[in-house]
Amino acid sequence: MDTCRFAPTTSGRAHPGTLLAGLLAWLDARSRGARIVLRLEDLDRQRCRPEFSQGLIDDLAWFGLDWDNVQHQSDQGQAHAGALDALAAGGVLYPSRLSRAQIAAGGRRAPDGGWAYDNRERGTALPEAGWRSCDLPLRVRLPEGRQRPVDEGGLDLAQDPAAAFGDPVVRNRAGEVAYHLAVVVDDHRAGVTRVVRGRDLASASATQAALRSRLGLPDPVYRHHLLLLEPAATGQEAEKLAKCHGSVAADALRRTLSAADVCGFLAWCASLRPDPGPATPRQLLPNFTWDQVGREDVAVAWDGRRLRRIEVVPGREMGRGV
Ligand code: GLU
Repeated sequence: MDTCRFAPTTSGRAHPGTLLAGLLAWLDARSRGARIVLRLEDLDRQRCRPEFSQGLIDDLAWFGLDWDNVQHQSDQGQAHAGALDALAAGGVLYPSRLSRAQIAAGGRRAPDGGWAYDNRERGTALPEAGWRSCDLPLRVRLPEGRQRPVDEGGLDLAQDPAAAFGDPVVRNRAGEVAYHLAVVVDDHRAGVTRVVRGRDLASASATQAALRSRLGLPDPVYRHHLLLLEPAATGQEAEKLAKCHGSVAADALRRTLSAADVCGFLAWCASLRPDPGPATPRQLLPNFTWDQVGREDVAVAWDGRRLRRIEVVPGREMGRGV
């Protein structure tokens, strides 16, 4: 049986983009009789707070999604340490003292818009006492060459991540295990075979596949989906809604809209319904197929009481909504 997961970062309450991503992951799993795990990604001690984890759990339950298991990434410390032990034993874990500014000075952009790292510290030895005693960030030497993770929706995920991004940091200076390694280890431990997530994370797939090959873990199948956007302050360009500061959070949505209002609206945005009328996740289930799901990102706006879908034409907004 397939196992799927929804893995929001607990840096705030759910936003409309979080709810749409959760809905699509849930519909994917439930429509194929698969298991689905909710994983709260709470490793970043600066941005994540326990009350946000609980808020997200409540928001997703209010919205109508249920889970076969709920996990907190911060409970997986032993498994993360075990993976670091394996990488150190394989001779591919190394300390990195280059600052962000030094990496930026290299002037080469990575596919996600960040700065590419040129792997120049490869070969730096770990301290004699092992990686646990190291107070520098740790990177993993990735295998050379193209990784070819498969996206079921036909997105091309093939990439040479060691060249395009450079070796990833897997444990930061503060001792926190970083995103790529945590995702790979946690997905494997949960038995995840299908990863459904927003298209903004597509370019992370090759690095994650390369890390899995270092750890001898099998690849899941991917499905990267459309994003919800909101117009930037200038009205020029839409930005990803789910992670924008100032986007409406579910606690505000919940004051003026019902869960079915929000779900029906988001289903309409994803082309799962012909109109934005109310619907529950369970009502969407019998007819769900990925063929229906729109591929274009959709821009929405919140006016303090209602959500509207908008055409982002500079200087003009047109909308229907709830
Ligand atoms: N926690 C990540 C996020 O909220 C998603 C991780 C993943 O799906 O791989 O953007």
